[in-house]
Amino acid sequence: MSTIVRVAVCGAAGRMGREVVRALAREDGLKLVGAVDPHSPGADAGVLAGLDPLGVTVSGDLEEMLEEANPRVMVDFTAPAAVAANARTAIRAGVHPVIGTTGMNSEDLAELRRLCAETGVGGFVAPNFAVGAVLMMKFAEMTAKFMPAVEIIELHHDQKADAPSGTAIKTAEMISSARGGYRQPSATKVLKIDGVRGGNYDGGIRIHSVRLPGLVAHQEVIFGGLGQTLSIRHDSISRESFMPGVLLAVRRVVGLREMVVGLENLIFE
Ligand code: NAP
Repeated sequence: MSTIVRVAVCGAAGRMGREVVRALAREDGLKLVGAVDPHSPGADAGVLAGLDPLGVTVSGDLEEMLEEANPRVMVDFTAPAAVAANARTAIRAGVHPVIGTTGMNSEDLAELRRLCAETGVGGFVAPNFAVGAVLMMKFAEMTAKFMPAVEIIELHHDQKADAPSGTAIKTAEMISSARGGYRQPSATKVLKIDGVRGGNYDGGIRIHSVRLPGLVAHQEVIFGGLGQTLSIRHDSISRESFMPGVLLAVRRVVGLREMVVGLENLIFE
């Protein structure tokens, strides 16, 4: 008989946190036991997510929640400024973090990798939990070998705190290593409006960040070649798109002894 995995959600009052609470509530074998969010301490996590009460009270203090609820896994969808400290606290308490929050810097990620390796408490980070987005990045990586000239347009809802998205940065990294030392030429000499050519990722990959109400999470990778273009586009039209990936990571992270980055490492094995 398989044991039930006890899960806590950090950022439980947020858009993604509430979606994770709903996903956990309908999933066999996983049980929501704790919730943290400075936004709504004292509220029932189920009620916040639009469900019947689940008997899990949102705490304002992560350490207190970890001690009282004793989860095995902590899912984090919070904010760039909070995520690294949350993950450190979880790992030190022996709790496996599943991190969806984007905007963490490379020093913090390196430190979390070290902490996971030292403690043997594995963790998981993904800039995008939607399988279609992972495939979009993979297809872009494949295409870059044959059509190295490319620009990325990422489009998100207007409440997103960071730009460009973690997915756009990851896509640019993958394209950059696939196309080797290729330097993308630019003929633009006059910028009539600041920033009009987007952000310049290393090696000349332009990233354009669109922020508008009504959007969820979208990305288009446009390759240009001699007399042709190839566009690869992915759209998350609802936050449910991320939930199969999050639930897969929750189930798999308990068997990890190190920090694993990227959903592709769980689905392309
Ligand atoms: P959101 O609606 O702003 O939710 C974040 C929640 O976390 C808010 O309620 C916030 O409270 C709370 N929070 C802030 N600091 C906290 C802390 N130290 N401990 C606990 N809770 C804390 O944002 P969202 O749209 O859900 O997105 C959250 C993150 O997930 C973003 O970084 C976003 O880019 C990322 N994301 C990742 C994926 C993926 O597939 N990896 C998909 C979608 C979104 P306050 O409002 O009071 O600060």
